[in-house]
Amino acid sequence: MTGESSAQGKLEHGGCLCGRVRYALRVDEISGTGYCHCRACQRSAGAPVLAWLTLPVAGFAYIKGRPAQYLSSKAYMREFCVDCGTQIAFRGVDPEPTLDVTIASLDEPALVQPNKHIWCESRIGWFETADDLPRHAHGGG
Ligand SMILES: [Zn+2]
Ligand SMILES: [Zn+2]
Repeated sequence: MTGESSAQGKLEHGGCLCGRVRYALRVDEISGTGYCHCRACQRSAGAPVLAWLTLPVAGFAYIKGRPAQYLSSKAYMREFCVDCGTQIAFRGVDPEPTLDVTIASLDEPALVQPNKHIWCESRIGWFETADDLPRHAHGGG
C-alpha cells in the first residue's frame, strides 16, 4: 500500500515516468473523473485518450521537482516533466478552484476509475472501451 492516512484524508502519490517530478493528492477530495477524447488531449499525450481526475487545487501538491507548463488553449495550461514528457496536470491560467490530474500518472492508477466520456465527437473510431459510462459529445457533465 502506498496510501497514508492523516487528518487531512488519504494521500496517494504519483509522478512522471523518469521520476523527476512527484506529487501527492488527497483521493477523498476527488470530485470528478473521466476520459477526455478531445484533440488537445490526444495530441498532447500522443495517445487516443486521456483519463483525468478533478480535485480542489488545495488537494494536490508537487513534492519533488517541478513541471514545465505551456498554454494548450487560451485559458488552460498543461503541466509536464521537461525530462521525460509525462503530462501530469491541467489547470486554468486564471486561478480556478479545481485542477485536473492524469489518472495514469498515479502510482496506483487502478484506484481511480473514469466515470464518463467527454468530447466524444473527436473520439478515434478504432478506439473503444467496453463500458456503459455516460458519453458526452462535448464537455458535458
Ligand atoms: Zn520525468
Ligand atoms: Zn481533453
